Amino acid sequence: MLKGNIAGKTALVTGSTSGIGLAIARALAADGANLMLNGFGDKAAIEQERARLETEFGIKARYSPADMSKPSEIAAMIAATEKEYGALDVLVNNAGIQHVANIEDFPVEKWDAVVAINLSSAFHTIRAAMPGMKKRKWGRIVNIASAHGLVASGQKVAYVAAKHGIVGLTKVVAIEAANDGITCNAICPGWVLTPLVQLQIDARAKTSGQSVKEAEVALVSEKQPMHSFTKPEGIGALAVFLCSDAAATITGSAYSIDGGWVAQ
Ligand code: NAD
Repeated sequence: MLKGNIAGKTALVTGSTSGIGLAIARALAADGANLMLNGFGDKAAIEQERARLETEFGIKARYSPADMSKPSEIAAMIAATEKEYGALDVLVNNAGIQHVANIEDFPVEKWDAVVAINLSSAFHTIRAAMPGMKKRKWGRIVNIASAHGLVASGQKVAYVAAKHGIVGLTKVVAIEAANDGITCNAICPGWVLTPLVQLQIDARAKTSGQSVKEAEVALVSEKQPMHSFTKPEGIGALAVFLCSDAAATITGSAYSIDGGWVAQ
């Protein structure tokens, strides 16, 4: 198994109580990183997952309930991580939400929320984490973008704008930190079967009259030459690779893991 050489380092994964973020947290923990988890959800379930990560991988895991739409909570979360562990070495900006509607029907508050959580939160986390990474001359920043960071789909104006934005943000951070031992890359997944996508499948089944299974197949095959979902674990493995010494000169890149979606 590929090693990311991050044993004993500290990793913060935003939105790691579910889906892709949880899989990335598990992959980093399997490689020996201590964790700061973040995200919403049932308190007891989050505590159970936190404790499980500690026992399964022999690492330390803490949890911050910071809301990624609130800059002051983000700053406090970064400060708490550095205080708890003495450093923040690996930052994964993963928290995200979706809203689907034509632009003329798109609620202003949904635009604000999608842009705040999917894009601005990464500005706030990186801004706060960068001084420590520069001081220690080591850092890995992984931004979870999307195929929608590279190409568009209708009815997703806020999401597509935010995801294109995070690909641009990734490049700027990569340039600025290029000689400080810090890399910054984006991962651009295609369809991954998580709660975020299940909502879209359920909505599609409702409006089209298809069964949920039929709607699932239709959703994937409409965009991807490969008619199968990417597994969250695959994204976790890619994140670990981007933390490895082998990836030390990979920076400013956007890695597709999308069943051929943007190859078309
Ligand atoms: P998910 O809904 O399973 O998980 C989202 C996570 O973000 C959860 O932990 C949730 O609690 C957290 N979150 C949401 N709002 C938050 C807030 N205000 N503050 C803190 N945490 C918050 O979704 P997912 O599919 O695992 O998505 C994770 C990331 O991957 C997102 O950025 C998403 O855009 C991206 N992505 C997903 C897919 C896919 O097909 N699922 C494809 C491409 C990109």
